[in-house]
Amino acid sequence: MKFGGTSVGSAGRIAATADIIVSSRHPAIIVLSAMSGATSELIEIARNESQTDCIVSRHMDVAKTLGLPQNINDSLRSIVARASTYAETVACGELMSTTIMLSYLQKRGIDAVMLPALDFMKLTTDGEPATIAIAEALSETMKTAGKHDIYVTQGFICRNAAGQVATLTRGGSDYTATLLGEALSAEEIQIWTDVDGVYSADPRRVPAARRVPQLSYSQADTAARKGAKILHPDCVRPAMRAGIPLRVLDSFHPQAGGTVIDNVADSTAFIAVAYVTDDASGTAEISLIGQHRDIGDKDILNVLDDIHVETVDLSDNYTSVRVAISDADKAMNLLHNNFIDK
Ligand code: ASP
Ligand code: MG
Repeated sequence: MKFGGTSVGSAGRIAATADIIVSSRHPAIIVLSAMSGATSELIEIARNESQTDCIVSRHMDVAKTLGLPQNINDSLRSIVARASTYAETVACGELMSTTIMLSYLQKRGIDAVMLPALDFMKLTTDGEPATIAIAEALSETMKTAGKHDIYVTQGFICRNAAGQVATLTRGGSDYTATLLGEALSAEEIQIWTDVDGVYSADPRRVPAARRVPQLSYSQADTAARKGAKILHPDCVRPAMRAGIPLRVLDSFHPQAGGTVIDNVADSTAFIAVAYVTDDASGTAEISLIGQHRDIGDKDILNVLDDIHVETVDLSDNYTSVRVAISDADKAMNLLHNNFIDK
């Protein structure tokens, strides 16, 4: 079960997330992001070598509101005091959020222990997750930890091939979760976030967007890679390799339907619109995810009518157009409203 930054973003959210953890099936591994905003703040601190007091006190305030024992303040301070490299500083967000969650779960009488991600999340010399080494080290770490109901670990943070602290790319906690699910042949991998599933487009930009209750691994993988920001671009692959259902759920509305990604047959219609912006060229690539036998580039250009389309890319898994960033919202709405579910 992976919980993102907003799911641990305040004392109230940590308590609500703990409720979800408590009522889940056990044993479970809990993968946490840093509190919302913490990683960005730590990146600024690492870049400018600025003061850490502010970020530490934010965590101490949360611990106090949750009624955690005073000595957690020493743990939080020492996490930050130990960090000297850039990556070590950036890694403090997950180290602090998990320290707070573990203490809170224990306070509620839950049988929970920490699995330090830095003991098993390893990268190869190419900077890719070392899946075999991760599986071996994780099983060692779990053996040492013994049998418990709940294991808490850090998303995003890892060690490079030289053993130094490193991180995955931004939003990488999703990827940690699916890598661990794969390593353990988990029954299910759950990504708990702040929207109730994968949508047919970003609902903030496309008002007609709808929740997609189920999608295939390959279409979810394409959507993640083509900019559906709800999932880290690399996170579908481990679940797909292992054939483990990947569920996207809303920690603010735990009973909402969510989205399940599994080995259902690919839909034969376009299922979603995703986009990636490229500030350097001032353009956005907008992709219709899926295949559609009856819609070709002429149909796409017709619908986009007065928008200048730089390129059209027809691939097996998606059809994409490149337009100016200023036309992106209009193009996304037109493509979504004309071609999704048609
Ligand atoms: N805390 C990291 C980030 O902000 C990882 C994550 O949230 O998944 O990118
Ligand atoms: Mg995320």
